[in-house]
Amino acid sequence: MKKILIGTHNQGKFREIAFLLSKKFKKISPLTLKIPSPKETGKTFHSNSRLKANFFSKFVDYPVISDDSGLSIKSMKNKPGIYSARLAKQKGNFFNAMKYILKKMKNKKNRSATFFCSLSIKFPKKKIITVVGKVDGNISETIIGKKGFGYDPIFIPNNESKTFGQISKKQKIKMDHRYYAFKKLKKKIKIL
Ligand code: IMP
Repeated sequence: MKKILIGTHNQGKFREIAFLLSKKFKKISPLTLKIPSPKETGKTFHSNSRLKANFFSKFVDYPVISDDSGLSIKSMKNKPGIYSARLAKQKGNFFNAMKYILKKMKNKKNRSATFFCSLSIKFPKKKIITVVGKVDGNISETIIGKKGFGYDPIFIPNNESKTFGQISKKQKIKMDHRYYAFKKLKKKIKIL
């Protein structure tokens, strides 16, 4: 069976990317191979996503797929954006990070936000390919829903009344930023 390394230590992301990929691939986690995470030194989703795919591809001789994603909030000058994971770390966990965001957003009229995903794939000895996917929505007034991961319980996608945290995993996987990025990638690389 052909292998692919899903270059992320985030279990939520791993599950989603594994679900989107063809059943023909054996999906490997860097955790299984005891590969550490690279330092995210990039200033954009694009550069961090490429940096991750390049980093993980040094450890294996099969394809690597990596994403850099995050939540950009209009009235917070597009923060946390590429710092989404780091904000949760800084605040101790995602619940505290969401509480912090909701406090910052108190009385804000404009609650619009976007989840971005920059998805990169690197085949051995081939040039890296990167695509982007996004989903627009709004920040909820409270933390709602126990499904999903990360910032899901405060994000209401456009044309929905529920947060990602209230939407089933099966449904969310087919409507989020990673899904749209993956669709673009699949157009370029049919075997995925
Ligand atoms: P990074 O790409 O490893 O820097 O992490 C992205 C951050 O955004 C993580 O903290 C994720 O939990 C969060 N994030 C990315 N995609 C999603 C999503 O689909 N739902 C909720 N949070 C997400």
